[in-house]
Amino acid sequence: MKLVDGGKYTLNEIEASLLDNHKYPAHQVERIMPVLEEVDRLRAEKNAIILAHYYQEPPIQLIADVRGDSLKLAYAAREIKDKRLVLSSTVLFMAEMVKLLSEDKKVIIPALDAGCSIAEGINGATVKRIRENFPESAIVSYINVYADTKAEVDSVCTSANAQEIIKNIKGNPVILLPDYFFAKNIFYELTKNKNNDRTYLAYKGVDNGNIILEDVLNNRATSLSGKGINLPSLPKGTCIVHEQFTPEEIAYFRRSQKIDVVMAHPEVNPEVARVSDFIGGTEAMIRYAKTNPSKKYLVISECDLTAPLKEACPETEFNTPCTFCPYMKRNTLESFLRSIKEEVFEVNIDKKIAGKARMSLERMFELSGK
Ligand code: SF4
Repeated sequence: MKLVDGGKYTLNEIEASLLDNHKYPAHQVERIMPVLEEVDRLRAEKNAIILAHYYQEPPIQLIADVRGDSLKLAYAAREIKDKRLVLSSTVLFMAEMVKLLSEDKKVIIPALDAGCSIAEGINGATVKRIRENFPESAIVSYINVYADTKAEVDSVCTSANAQEIIKNIKGNPVILLPDYFFAKNIFYELTKNKNNDRTYLAYKGVDNGNIILEDVLNNRATSLSGKGINLPSLPKGTCIVHEQFTPEEIAYFRRSQKIDVVMAHPEVNPEVARVSDFIGGTEAMIRYAKTNPSKKYLVISECDLTAPLKEACPETEFNTPCTFCPYMKRNTLESFLRSIKEEVFEVNIDKKIAGKARMSLERMFELSGK
């Protein structure tokens, strides 16, 4: 049976994949399939499209029309034409991004409290204060931020295009925020073995009411007063999943499981990046594994990222410390079904903020030539 309206897999294929690729027990699959059938029926009835991030549980990934990392979902959102409803099974900053790029559609998310520790480590007021102090700078934010932050930066970037965006954007210093580890890893890759005539500042967070930036090539910190502004709800903007991994853990896996290749996401601590063999975002990892299927991998990322890897390379062994993102997992199969059934929770963004935030997303597409 073909999925209604363009889903990539049939329900029979999804059932087989859950059993064979993802090793779900039969009794669980029996419980899951009627939910997916209902979602599929509602998708057609409501003229809806489903976007899902790679960190969603496999049944949600498999029933989605498009699944991907932030960049792939951004491209997909730009292309949505004849649909009325978009179910974004993601965290909130991504659902906001989907709304920004398909503004005339009704965009819903299963759980409004699906936040992100990176997004909550920065806000628009903090970016404005940084710009007052560095008026000639190019301020680039990782895509994992809310619309009020996107509205204040010159461009956003993703793990897939950060180096390209920074190379192409004008301004000095270049300030990359809010994830300190991500910024250090990207700046390191960008500047190694090169003469550099720019200054690269990474946002380190807020300490004692001050905003801290670090010149990563010269190891010097700058402190800006945060007086008179609303500072972010979290003191730093790192990923609570990726920051947990340690070099010792990688050494343990290499030893005990005879790993050939360690693939890590650029949100990991630079010490972990240094002992990994491949650093890249989700899509890059999938591409890499497809070209080297005979290796035994350790995947240093969110646990469910192994779902598309296992499907792309069924013969390959993917090991993972298996850490789940508690924000991504706010979306359960039950809330996913409720979301499309009741058309909740709608994502709305203030018009003025949305206009400016959309510009920084468009700037990313322009600077990366897409
Ligand atoms: S995995 Fe990290 S970056 Fe992704 S949503 Fe969770 S906390 Fe945010």
